[in-house]
Amino acid sequence: MSTGGLGGIFGFGERPIGSEANRRATEFVRAEAERMGYAVRRLAFTCPYWEKGPSSAERGGARAEVFAGPFSPAFDEALEVVAASSLDELKAQECAGKILFLRGEIAQEPLMPRDFPFYFPDAHKAVYEALDEKKPAAVVMATGAHPSCGLNPFPLFDDADFRIPAAFLGESAAAKLLEAAGPLRLKIDSRTTEQPGEQLVATKPAAGESQGKIVVCAHMDTAYGTPGALDNAAGVAVLLGAMERLKGFAGPHDLEFVPFNGEDSGMVKGQMAYLEALGEEFVRIRLVVNIDAPGCKGATTHVSAYNLDESRQKRLEEEIARHLRIGRGPEWVEGDHSIFAFQGIPALAVTSSNLREGVMRISHTPRDVEALVDPVLLEEAAEFIAGLVNRI
Ligand SMILES: [Zn+2]
Repeated sequence: MSTGGLGGIFGFGERPIGSEANRRATEFVRAEAERMGYAVRRLAFTCPYWEKGPSSAERGGARAEVFAGPFSPAFDEALEVVAASSLDELKAQECAGKILFLRGEIAQEPLMPRDFPFYFPDAHKAVYEALDEKKPAAVVMATGAHPSCGLNPFPLFDDADFRIPAAFLGESAAAKLLEAAGPLRLKIDSRTTEQPGEQLVATKPAAGESQGKIVVCAHMDTAYGTPGALDNAAGVAVLLGAMERLKGFAGPHDLEFVPFNGEDSGMVKGQMAYLEALGEEFVRIRLVVNIDAPGCKGATTHVSAYNLDESRQKRLEEEIARHLRIGRGPEWVEGDHSIFAFQGIPALAVTSSNLREGVMRISHTPRDVEALVDPVLLEEAAEFIAGLVNRI
């Protein structure tokens, strides 16, 4: 398999849900699936799409470029500043009509979007509730390195329903602004519109009586600001490669190939559309294979397993043994397999062996480019998945 260059999934560049590039990529995947003879369902959704311009903060003699927070309302005011580095400090502050800096301990990790359906910790809920009560005019987030992608600094909030104007910048630039005196002029150039998107599902029914469903998935959307080559054009290339090899499938399972559209968005629109369409069929899923960030040059392919019984463990080991650069890897949660694994469904995640110390350092940044992808590894991963689906 060539990674496809400009003709393949790598050619679409940055493609967050709601973008024109996302719709063109969806069209490409649909045409490929239909060319291979799959029936394709198209689940429509609408979603917020975000565009931003240059933003800045100025106070006394200090000036800093800041980044607009995702989906932030536009903002341009000069106001008094307060700061908080913990939930207790936030609760003790008078924030109404002021610009609130969040930094230090409270700004160590991104908050899940409010009421995120799969995971929403109480600590995050408490911060949202405090902000509801405190009503700052705007929030400036002073952050460092993101714990699980390459962003530095990163936004604490990535949530279209978060309606407080927000911007983010690095800790040292924020410290200079906090040391200066007087009101802070904060300009955020940002707007959000409602746009259409689609979740595709390509299917092939079992030959004879069905023994349940096998779902193979790889998210096709990207975060904002990245071409998303490893994360996850590479996964979609493997998905399409597995589909090509399975187009004549005549086994006892219904096959569903799902290019999830929304993994790198807090709104998980495509995932929700798919689960809703699936309904009670959820319990018929016998195995989920999720492909996310495979094929990093210089690495090998890791497969992690969740909820597999002994016979499937054995089948997995046999299939792994057929391939030179595929091995078992540690469990991880930051992917679409978790939606199923948390519910007790047998699942596999296919990724690069350097996921944590390599891929996650560059993911969600402009550095995630096609030159990092090894097409031979993608080929091998597609062959492995097709073999497993044929023999499980
Ligand atoms: Zn991903």
